[in-house]
Amino acid sequence: MCGIVAYIGPREAYPVILKGLKRLEYRGYDSSGVALLHDGLKVYKKKGKVAELEESLVGQNLHAHAGIGHTRWATHGEPSDRNAHPHQSSNGKLAMIHNGIIENYTQLKNELIRKGYQFKSDTDTEVLLNFIEDIQRNNQCILEEAVRIALKRVVGAYVIVLLDKDNPDTLIAARKGSPLVIGVGRGEHFLASDASPIIEYTKEVVYVNDYELAILKADELVLKNLGNEKITPFVQKLDMELAAIEKGGYDHFMLKEIFEQPDTIFDCLRGRLDITNNTITMAGVLQNIDQLKSANRIIIIACGTSWHAGLTAEYIIEELCRIPVEVEYASEFRYRNPVVHPGDVIIAISQSGETADTMVAIERAKEQGAFIFGVVNVVGSSIARISHAGAYTHAGHEIGVASTKAFTAQLVVLTLIALKVAWEKGSVDQERYTHLLHELYAIPEKVREVLLLNRQIEQLAKKYQGATDALYLGRGYNFPIALEGALKLKEISYIHAEGYPAAEMKHGPIALVDEHLPVVFVATRDSYHEKIVSNIQEIKARKGKVIAVITAGDQTITGMADDTIGIPEADEILAPLLSVIPLQLLSYHIGVAKGCDVDKPRNLAKSVTVE
Ligand code: GLU
Repeated sequence: MCGIVAYIGPREAYPVILKGLKRLEYRGYDSSGVALLHDGLKVYKKKGKVAELEESLVGQNLHAHAGIGHTRWATHGEPSDRNAHPHQSSNGKLAMIHNGIIENYTQLKNELIRKGYQFKSDTDTEVLLNFIEDIQRNNQCILEEAVRIALKRVVGAYVIVLLDKDNPDTLIAARKGSPLVIGVGRGEHFLASDASPIIEYTKEVVYVNDYELAILKADELVLKNLGNEKITPFVQKLDMELAAIEKGGYDHFMLKEIFEQPDTIFDCLRGRLDITNNTITMAGVLQNIDQLKSANRIIIIACGTSWHAGLTAEYIIEELCRIPVEVEYASEFRYRNPVVHPGDVIIAISQSGETADTMVAIERAKEQGAFIFGVVNVVGSSIARISHAGAYTHAGHEIGVASTKAFTAQLVVLTLIALKVAWEKGSVDQERYTHLLHELYAIPEKVREVLLLNRQIEQLAKKYQGATDALYLGRGYNFPIALEGALKLKEISYIHAEGYPAAEMKHGPIALVDEHLPVVFVATRDSYHEKIVSNIQEIKARKGKVIAVITAGDQTITGMADDTIGIPEADEILAPLLSVIPLQLLSYHIGVAKGCDVDKPRNLAKSVTVE
């Protein structure tokens, strides 16, 4: 995680870096800092959000044409001024920002301590920086050479960017495992964790690959591998507009992104779903259809909200394609000794396409001969590049740390894949297939209808904001949505919440139920309806407060729940696309009512690029 920004060129570096850090704050925000080359090397850093850094620098002379900036998500050492980046080397000549983890930092640190080095912070970053300084001193080499030697000994993941007092016209950057984009301007260069700090200035970008080193001057970009061989930079054009990364009148990015869902779902379907001819066009699926339809097994790998999309897809794929599906947490899968065979298909899901655990899990499965299909949102991201095939979710830039529109876009893409494979395999009949295509086509409009409930949900949020715990229950396709609803509430409002299969609650969580506990049922009308009605009664019999997301007009549940949220009817396979939306809104409004920073919940960061 962590956001990094750097600039070299004729502009004032500080405003470019500051604005960039604000755009990248979704990646981490426990402290931030900048290093500028003006009249020597100056480093300013501060615990807290970027705005606090900005405030502390008012009135300072920050004039510089080269600089680096960082917004941190701490892994090594508590959030504090001294652990904030940039770090400065022992001799004071180098400043460095880092995104990632240096796994063998203890060993390197001990070596340096034996040589007399002292450390000002608890970070792995400062260790790497002094290690570089030490190599440069011993070998009397240029910084670029020292960085190369150091990185060959480093175990872990990193993006680093260095500023050198003795070479004020050069920035050095390198990457392994964490994301890095270079913006190529006219006589200027930008560096950032993603393109959002760059698009305002240039749309020409170079995505740096693992084990590459970039040596940047205002008017020159040299890319090399760790073997010191030059690589020709592949300049791409960004397909992104500035408006997409601004709040557009909403109070928070999260709310904006919730409200964008009719459009993002439509965008995700556009060009793929043709209800005139009843076809689905997905090149990545079609080109690999034999592999997909004859898969022995599909293993879905993901983390967090993407894992919930994967769990929903398990139900959908098994139902439509009759292929066994397993859903794995990437962080568990990568470290055990998973049984993967060449006939297995891995579907890896990640909003950012940079999730560290998912990336390594993919590599592990690849080594064992599996076919990898990536479902990611960020075009050109690492997972998109290391997968054999894939489909983008086209949800646009998601900035709210709690994922909303990326989740529904993932569900849409996974449903399209399931439908396409089922159709090609012959495991779904014409009538059901056609019905589902038409139902899918109607979803954006139905999402719009659900969003009309915003005010009602805001009122409900006021009623329940004082809760200390909540239970979320669902069955079948709505069970993963219960998990997602509980996760959203935890993330945004810090209320402890658990998601459970509604029937399973009898095996434990029911002990929590009393007159204070809100129990959110995701209970739209489907083949599990009667069963979930019984579960609601079981909660009511124990005086729990029931809030139920139901199909509008469901009198049975309305008669027994304390509060209901009625949403439009949809085929049960597609119901999650609607039922999740009230839960997103509920956690948003509870978070706001409690005064939480919903776009930047504590301790979290958006793309988890450290394991
Ligand atoms: N390991 C570094 C630190 O703790 C960077 C963390 C990160 O990239 O999230 O400061």
